Amino acid sequence: PLALEIKGLTKTYAGGVQALKGIDLSVEQGDFYALLGPNGAGKSTTIGIISSLVHRGEGSVKVFGHDLADELELAKQCIGLVPQEFNFNQFEKVLQIVVNQAGYYGVPRKLAYERAEHYLSQLDLWEKRDSRARELSGGMKRRLMIARALMHQPKLLILDEPTAGVDIELRRSMWDFLRKINGEGVTIILTTHYLEEAEMLCRNIGIIDKGTLVENTSMKSLLAKL
Ligand code: ADP
Ligand code: ADP
Repeated sequence: PLALEIKGLTKTYAGGVQALKGIDLSVEQGDFYALLGPNGAGKSTTIGIISSLVHRGEGSVKVFGHDLADELELAKQCIGLVPQEFNFNQFEKVLQIVVNQAGYYGVPRKLAYERAEHYLSQLDLWEKRDSRARELSGGMKRRLMIARALMHQPKLLILDEPTAGVDIELRRSMWDFLRKINGEGVTIILTTHYLEEAEMLCRNIGIIDKGTLVENTSMKSLLAKL
């Protein structure tokens, strides 16, 4: 199956904002896909619906063949989400945050600790494992969110503006990490409003504007057009 298959997706928020006006979008397994668009285009809404944080309107969403409407739990197991806002308990310790996350997904405790060491080391956070989240810099918090999202080894990693407000050095190392994860077989979808970021990382790209997907193509053909 496709990693992601969206058909006719709409969303109208209470209050009447039509955030999505009928989106069709497919992402192949193993792809590195960018959803690009200006502020307010509907990127976060799309991601929120895929990760079932936002109720959808019309249309269907399938993740690795699991329809959110009738196989939500199976779909959720496939997804790791890195939201834009830090949403962990700032008073918890780094190691606890990632291990607890694994617990929510039923990962056995011993395995959770092994994975925690693996991902926290790769993301340069292992030394910080006993620090409380609030003591971390913004860049470290972002890396913590990525480690946390990977703890149940999702097949699809979704990141909402992962490098917004991140300095260039950290941005580069995050890119390297994401490329590595993608090379290991994890499908990645990220939203960004930097074309440069999409260009550096992504194989395929969707451009969303005012709730409509205006382009869905390979990065190569998009660049050839510009
Ligand atoms: P993007 O992520 O591309 O910046 P969003 O998906 O956040 O876009 O927003 C799409 C549209 O939906 C915008 O007009 C935004 O103001 C509106 N919107 C987003 N979230 C909500 C909400 N919770 N309630 C009402 N309107 C919302
Ligand atoms: P670093 O020291 O690693 O560069 P900073 O603390 O300067 O990190 O923050 C990096 C980015 O993260 C900044 O753009 C900042 O606005 C953002 N940021 C920091 N703390 C928070 C927070 N609690 N919630 C959302 N964004 C944050």
